Amino acid sequence: MQQSRFGFSEVSKRTPESPISYFMQQAVENQDIISLAAGLVDTGSLPVQEISSALNDILGDPTKAREALQYGTTQGHLPLREKIAKHLASLDKSSTTFSPKDIVVTTGSQQLLYILSEVLIDEGDIVITEAPSYFVYQAVLAGRGAEVVSIPMDEEGMQIHALEERLKQIEAAGNLPRIKIIYTVDYYQNPSGRTLSLARRKELMALMNRWSNRLRAVIVEDAAYRELRFDGPDIPSLKSMDPENKFVVYAGTFSKPCSPGLKSGYALMPTELVRPILIIKANHDFGSSNLTQHTVDRLLENGDYQKHVLELQEVYGKKSRVMLEALESNFAAYPEVTWTKPTGGMFVWLKLPEHISTGLQSEFLKAAMSEGVLYVPGIFAYRGAGPLPDSEMRITYGDASVDRIREGIHRLKKAYLRVKDT
Ligand code: PMP
Repeated sequence: MQQSRFGFSEVSKRTPESPISYFMQQAVENQDIISLAAGLVDTGSLPVQEISSALNDILGDPTKAREALQYGTTQGHLPLREKIAKHLASLDKSSTTFSPKDIVVTTGSQQLLYILSEVLIDEGDIVITEAPSYFVYQAVLAGRGAEVVSIPMDEEGMQIHALEERLKQIEAAGNLPRIKIIYTVDYYQNPSGRTLSLARRKELMALMNRWSNRLRAVIVEDAAYRELRFDGPDIPSLKSMDPENKFVVYAGTFSKPCSPGLKSGYALMPTELVRPILIIKANHDFGSSNLTQHTVDRLLENGDYQKHVLELQEVYGKKSRVMLEALESNFAAYPEVTWTKPTGGMFVWLKLPEHISTGLQSEFLKAAMSEGVLYVPGIFAYRGAGPLPDSEMRITYGDASVDRIREGIHRLKKAYLRVKDT
C-alpha cells in the first residue's frame, strides 16, 4: 500500500486486491482480448423477461409494492425463506425438512462468507480450506488474519484422510480449539470445477461425528454452483447429511442460477448461529434489499426460476463441451498439459508442466496476453506455508461465446508453444 496520510486498519492492510478485478479491467479495455478469466455468467441467457414481469407484478399492486419498497427484516422475507427451505429439500430429494427459522437471506453469498468470518474468526484462528480454493474467500481470510490450513484435493474433491491427519497434528500442537471453519465449495468448485464425491461426503460427515466432542469447527458448504449441473449424478448436500443441524452452514446464492445483478443469497445454518449472524448483519445493512427479495420470491412462486435453471444447465453443458473439445484437439500432442472435466458450473482447471509458471510476472502470462487470451493464475487459489503450486490456471466458459471459447483455447495453445521449451 502506498504512503498515505490516512491510518489504514490492519484488516485493510492485510486484505489483498482481487486478481480478478485486474483481469476484468484488461478485458474491458481491450475487446480483442478473449477473457477466459472473468467469472461472469452467460450474459445472453440472463432472465430479462422473467425479472421484468416479476417486478411488474410487485410494483403493479400498490399493497405489494409498498411492502417491497419498505425496509424488511434483517433475517429476510419470511415467504422467501419458506420457499428456500422447500427448494433445498427438493434439491436433496429427501424427506428432510429445513426450517425457515434457520435461514438468513443475504446480499449474495459473499456477504454470508464475510459475516460468518466476523462472527467466528479472531486473528490467528484456523480455517481449513481445499487446495485450491475460492480466491475471494482466501482474501477474506487474509483480511481477518486467519491462518489457512489447506487440504489437497483429487478428482473426488477434498481428501478427507488428509484432513484427519491435519486435525491430529493440530490437536497434538494444542490448537484444535482454534479451528473455526472447514470451508468447501463442494459442487463444481470455483476454481477447479471438481465436485466432492458422495463417498467423500459420507467420510467427512463421519469424521465430524467422530470428532464432535472436541472439534468446534463448522463446515461451510458453499454451494454456489450446485444448480448448474449438466452431467453426472445429482449428489445430496452435506447439509442433508446433518440431520440434527449441528455441523453445516449451507451457503446458497441466486447469482449463478438466476442473476448476479440481483445479488441475493441465503444460508441455512445451525440454530445457534442465527442470532450472532443477524446481530452482525444488522450492522452491515439491517437486511438485504427487500425489493430484490420480493422479486426472487415471485420467481420461485411462479416457476420461472425453476424453468430458467433448466435452460442454464443446457447452456453451460454445451459451452463446457465446446471448451473440453477445444482443449482435447489443441493439446492432443501435449499430454503433459492436463485439465479437469467439470460436470457442472463454469470452470476448468488447467495444469502446465511444473517448470512453467502461470503467475502475474510469468513469461506464459506475457505470451498469453500477446496472443490475446486471459486466464486467472492458479497461485491466487493457494495459501499456506511452503512453495505454492504455480503452473496452474483457472479458465471459464461462463460468458465467452462458443466461437471465442474455441479461439481462446487455440490462443492458449499458441502461448504454450512459445514458452514450453524455455
Ligand atoms: N462462493 C463462490 C464459490 C463464488 O464463486 C461466488 C461468486 N464468485 C460467491 C460465493 C459469491 O457470489 P454472490 O455473492 O454473488 O452470491
